[in-house]
Amino acid sequence: MIEFSIIIPVYNEEENVSELHRRLGTVMERLGTYEIIFVDDGSSDKSWQIIKDLHEKDSRVKGLSFSRNFGHHIAITAGMDHAQGKAIILMDGDLQDPPEEIPKLLKKFNEGYELVYGIRKEKKDSILKRFASFVFWWFINSFSGINIPRNQTLLRIFDRKILDALNSMRERSRFIHGMIAWTGFKTAMQEVEHAPRERGKSKYNVIKLFRLAFNAITSFSTFPLRLATYIGLLSSGIGLFYSLYFIYKKLFLGIPVLGYASIIVAVLFVGGIQLLMLGIIGEYIGRVYQEVQARPIYIIKEHILD
Ligand code: UDP
Ligand code: MG
Repeated sequence: MIEFSIIIPVYNEEENVSELHRRLGTVMERLGTYEIIFVDDGSSDKSWQIIKDLHEKDSRVKGLSFSRNFGHHIAITAGMDHAQGKAIILMDGDLQDPPEEIPKLLKKFNEGYELVYGIRKEKKDSILKRFASFVFWWFINSFSGINIPRNQTLLRIFDRKILDALNSMRERSRFIHGMIAWTGFKTAMQEVEHAPRERGKSKYNVIKLFRLAFNAITSFSTFPLRLATYIGLLSSGIGLFYSLYFIYKKLFLGIPVLGYASIIVAVLFVGGIQLLMLGIIGEYIGRVYQEVQARPIYIIKEHILD
């Protein structure tokens, strides 16, 4: 059995794939038998051709190519579905996770943990990106109901037991960091370097991050639904007291009820909250709908696995 499966999602990384393969080779040669599974997430550049060429020269390189862009976390999923190794290593394909850090993770892993996270000491991203990712992690840890270590990179190593658990989770909305934390095995953290992106462009922007955070929260918790109940209870409680007060005023003090403005404010406020809550319920129903459709999570156009 192969010792390590390294899974690498790739989306338009033609400038990075060969160098990543070369640097990984240097590091992994000393560590044991391995396979590298590149998952081409519908790249429109030469990434897939480069992966095929690498396979010709090095049979440890395997590849899956999607029919279109399905997304980072789905690409990782496909890689995990095809991994043969006893231990699994995940890393990004843009060289921001340096392969040279793998031995550190492995050392920790061999101390008897089932999962070792790579935690970045220092983020080598722009200020805006760092701010967005701070808000992202805060949001997720506050509302998703699971504790996902902050500042984790994708770079990590874990046992086949975790792989089997993950592969048995077939939900369509896939937030891998959350799913891994959810499995709840014995974990450790290891500080790793994080390199700036030297070549190619980041594929995440603030909107995509927000979408991911929202997906993460709705996949792991029904707190937003409960929030509707709480807010509803609170506002109807306030409403009840307020109306009793006005009835009392009208009946016993005879003061006419004034306040067109306050009525409008109340109507708009309550209307807004109702729409928001409907939207949240809609999100969950949308999720149920997608699950019921039961489409495949990804479609593979071409693969090299032998
Ligand atoms: N990626 C992918 N599919 C996507 C977007 C990104 O497979 O739809 C890959 C990308 O090629 C890279 C990794 O996911 O290997 C991380 O993406 P990126 O570097 O753009 O994210 P960032 O590091 O900026 O958060
Ligand atoms: Mg990156």
